[in-house]
Amino acid sequence: MADSVRSILSKLEPLSDKVTRRPLASMKPTLTDVLCTRCGLCCDGSLFADAELASRETAALEVLGLEIEDADPGEPALLLQPCAAFKGKRCSIYAHRPSCCRTFECRLLREVESGAISIDRAKETIANALQEVARVKVLMAQLGQRDERLPLKERFSEALTLSSDIIEDPRMNRKGAEAKIAITRVQNLLQQTFLDG
Ligand code: SF4
Ligand code: SF4
Repeated sequence: MADSVRSILSKLEPLSDKVTRRPLASMKPTLTDVLCTRCGLCCDGSLFADAELASRETAALEVLGLEIEDADPGEPALLLQPCAAFKGKRCSIYAHRPSCCRTFECRLLREVESGAISIDRAKETIANALQEVARVKVLMAQLGQRDERLPLKERFSEALTLSSDIIEDPRMNRKGAEAKIAITRVQNLLQQTFLDG
């Protein structure tokens, strides 16, 4: 088994991330080191429900334990999120992550790169977004939606259905209304800050 894993991994692209290719003399932290390691919203199901894979990548990722949805004819296979490789705010298969992960840069990273916002401001923005997502997860749990294996969008939609079903209990009705407002706010925040507005 170990040999087959090694043989599959050896067929993956050579390591091409900035961290491993930088010469030692210039080993200063990248934006990914500084910002992504405190964020993870593009891996934990908050921004995406899945990511498209190249066909040559799927076998190796399955061996590594990632959840892959098989491709329909003519469609790419999908890496499902929350990603099973996301552990402790880090990608546990970083050197072997698929090309969709290697090439993705969220809007916030691009804005820091262009100088439109500072690193400190980006850190605050990430902390605020994580706090808002955590708050909305507490509200969803109070409504009965506690499934951490689902992507956030799916949890939102299930929580909104649950909140619409609550008509008898005034306290739960208030909770449902509060959750609807919080969910809408978080969706807008994630879209405008990390995606393309
Ligand atoms: S959402 Fe942006 S800052 Fe957060 S981990 Fe992904 S690329 Fe990094
Ligand atoms: S493979 Fe790594 S970088 Fe890609 S979604 Fe999973 S944890 Fe994130």
